[in-house]
Amino acid sequence: MGPGPGNPYPEAIEAFMRPMLGHLDPAFLTLLDEVCDQLRTVFGTTNALTIPISGTGSAGMETCIVNVLGPGDVAVIGVNGVFGARMCDVASRTGAEVVRVDFDWGTPVTADRLLDAHPSPTLIGMVHAETSTGARSDVEPVAAGKGDALLLVDCVTSLGGIPFEADAWGVDLAYSGTQKCLGVPPGLSPITVSDRARDRFVERSQSWYLDLRMIGSYVGTAGAKRTYHHTAPISMIYSLHGGLTALLDEGIEAVHARHAECGQLLQDGLVELGFELFATEGHRLPELTTVVVPDGVEEAAVRATLLDRYDIEVGGGLGEYAGKVWRIGCMGHTARPRNVTLLLGALGEVLGR
Ligand code: PLP
Repeated sequence: MGPGPGNPYPEAIEAFMRPMLGHLDPAFLTLLDEVCDQLRTVFGTTNALTIPISGTGSAGMETCIVNVLGPGDVAVIGVNGVFGARMCDVASRTGAEVVRVDFDWGTPVTADRLLDAHPSPTLIGMVHAETSTGARSDVEPVAAGKGDALLLVDCVTSLGGIPFEADAWGVDLAYSGTQKCLGVPPGLSPITVSDRARDRFVERSQSWYLDLRMIGSYVGTAGAKRTYHHTAPISMIYSLHGGLTALLDEGIEAVHARHAECGQLLQDGLVELGFELFATEGHRLPELTTVVVPDGVEEAAVRATLLDRYDIEVGGGLGEYAGKVWRIGCMGHTARPRNVTLLLGALGEVLGR
């Protein structure tokens, strides 16, 4: 139930037992093509360049950034938690100028301040679902005002949990991670890149491994002839296929509705138990709820008891909120009402409420 790996969909685990294929075996390439199609559906896009990057969510972040930024470029990045700050760090390493726009933690990034930050940025970056605070920032208003800039969205904790529509909203680059709402073990970062962004790829990315001009030909996107780039993590691709199949069989809208129902049950239950929710009302993620740790409570001890006695992992606060908030993940396969009932009961018992 924690914001970490949680319990993946059983289908994603069973997939590890499939017989191993070579990474250039036609049967594997067919499966990879299917995964890319599944990802297009989940991202809400027809982008040819929609693929799982070999690496975790941060690899997807870096891939999106190093392929479009370099010296002389300007990136405006909204920061309302740990992962917006990480985006700034990655972008600054390309030599691009980073215009960091800070927002209070727990509040959303807003279009007005992001769009006013620079007259002609190369890129605007934002985190859709900030895992460190549990706040959702709305992408559409930023996309509507982006002008000539490329829009980069981190949807590591939103994809598969709340609606995300890359094409309808006008997102140019987006990356996610397998271990959150997609309910698959960590290890891959699905990304999608618009043709508009591809037209603006830097000539030579500063990363060899994450150079999309080369990876794109490995996965055979947009008519590229497949050429060897790196050995794909076969079992992880099987697992992603298993998890996405489970998700799509249930139906994206049904999966979103399940997350919304569980998030509401959890947040209502926490308020009934007397807790104060941290993220701004109206912008609370159903899949990641942040709660203010009550005064006088030994927060690490409570989390340890929940883990030992009830097998429930609750995350501690990050950055300046370490020790001050709890982060309760309810995502992917774990977003079930019975898990919410268990967590609320356990928390009430441990705290004597
Ligand atoms: N972005 C967000 C919003 C995240 O929550 C995370 C990880 O929790 C990342 C990026 C980085 O992903 P990873 O830890 O898989 O590299």
